Amino acid sequence: MEKLIFEKSVEGRRGVTFPTEALEGFSVDQVLPKEFQREIPLPLPEVSENELMRHYTRLSQDNYGVDTGFYPLGSCTMKYNPKINEDVARFPGFSQVHPLQPKEASQGALELIYELEQILSEISGMAGISLQPAAGAQGELTGMLITRAYHQGQGRQRRKVVIPDSAHGTNPASAHLAGFTVQTVRSNRNGLLDIDDLAKVVDEDTAALMLTNPNTLGLFERQIEEIVRIVHDAGALMYLDGANLNALLGLTRPGDMGFDLVHFNLHKTFSTPHGGGGPGAGPVGVASSLIPYLPFPVIQKAEGRYLLDSNRPQSIGRVHGFYGNFGILVRAYTYIRRLGAIGLSAVSRNAILNANYLKKKLEAHYPVPMDRSCMHEFVVSAKAFREKGIHAWDIAKRLIDYGFYPPTVNFPLIVPEALMIEPPESESRETLDAFAAAMLEIRKEIDQAPEKLLGAPDTCTVGRMNEVQAAKQLNVRYEPK
Ligand SMILES: *Cc1c(COP(=O)(O)O)cnc(C)c1O
Repeated sequence: MEKLIFEKSVEGRRGVTFPTEALEGFSVDQVLPKEFQREIPLPLPEVSENELMRHYTRLSQDNYGVDTGFYPLGSCTMKYNPKINEDVARFPGFSQVHPLQPKEASQGALELIYELEQILSEISGMAGISLQPAAGAQGELTGMLITRAYHQGQGRQRRKVVIPDSAHGTNPASAHLAGFTVQTVRSNRNGLLDIDDLAKVVDEDTAALMLTNPNTLGLFERQIEEIVRIVHDAGALMYLDGANLNALLGLTRPGDMGFDLVHFNLHKTFSTPHGGGGPGAGPVGVASSLIPYLPFPVIQKAEGRYLLDSNRPQSIGRVHGFYGNFGILVRAYTYIRRLGAIGLSAVSRNAILNANYLKKKLEAHYPVPMDRSCMHEFVVSAKAFREKGIHAWDIAKRLIDYGFYPPTVNFPLIVPEALMIEPPESESRETLDAFAAAMLEIRKEIDQAPEKLLGAPDTCTVGRMNEVQAAKQLNVRYEPK
């Protein structure tokens, strides 16, 4: 177990020393005015340079990441970020371009932005794209602000956004932030949107339906055409939470399904780095009737040159400085261009295959509610183990001891004790087999030695935390003895 750096401190030991000859003969007060002097020395650890280096290198090796292991994290598409993405993002022409430099001197960067918009438009079947939003949730907010501006542009006020009970928590939060009231619509026994309930809920006060398809259970909403008809007949818009497009690439398109707005998470589907709070990118796509409301500036191409149009009177305004998180856009562009159209559809085919393969291996041991062939992810329930005192998070924590990052737990909310598993296309069959084997071992432990789960993880520098206390009483201060 790695000690704290403070515990390694030895009085007087130094990592760096400075020449002091020039100070000889001066008092401290002559060198540093009194007001800048400390009364108590800073409580810094006193260690040598190599002790410092080794300490932090060892801590860095305690990290888990996509470069070290498999992330079956449902609703999050944690796929491998190919290193060519990083190489291209570091090209000086991209990494050192300044957003305020003259447009004539940044045509290459603007070309990449323009082309990425064209590509995302092709992939999604949406007429217009904005790359500005910095995350999925901000893409949703942007979409909701566009929805509001659209209805106002039609000379009407609509107050309600309808959202299924299986939705990601950011959906109601975004709708609320944009000034709408959220109305929930139920899922039916098959885990799909309840069409009868939808028809009752949607009316002339409805601004939009926010839908996730495939939904958070990994199931495709087969009645999507009927859903779109109900919503459009009421004059409302169809919003797709396209954070995870991993099951759709090259197979079907949100625009073809009838959606009017969609956001994508480049940091999920398009492999760019993800986690730790960003930066990410959550571009928005819209149908042609909504293009006037997109954030400005809008990039355009005229006579082979790229220019930015800020004269957009109906626009909702900016949602990010300059053009969004440009470095992330470069990575997504690289990823997409390297795979090409055939490669992208292979991504989705393999993601769906991986999820169904893993589901088949697990379903005899972990109940799959609303069982049907899934898309890119699936949900199992640990509810049956409650009587043994085992919850979904105990299984998740135990997986850490087996060397795996845990799946998403307790989401979607409509499945009690949910474990949401997403094995992206970048994982091999051997990895999936090893994960399934660990899950089966844990299943045995639930019957034979449940205490092993309750204490887990046992193999990490940090054991099981009291998560509520850790969140409510965060204390990262070192108190010197
Ligand atoms: C991840 C996710 C979001 C939010 O994306 P962020 O980039 O984390 O803001 C929204 N909806 C779904 C379904 C997601 O999986």
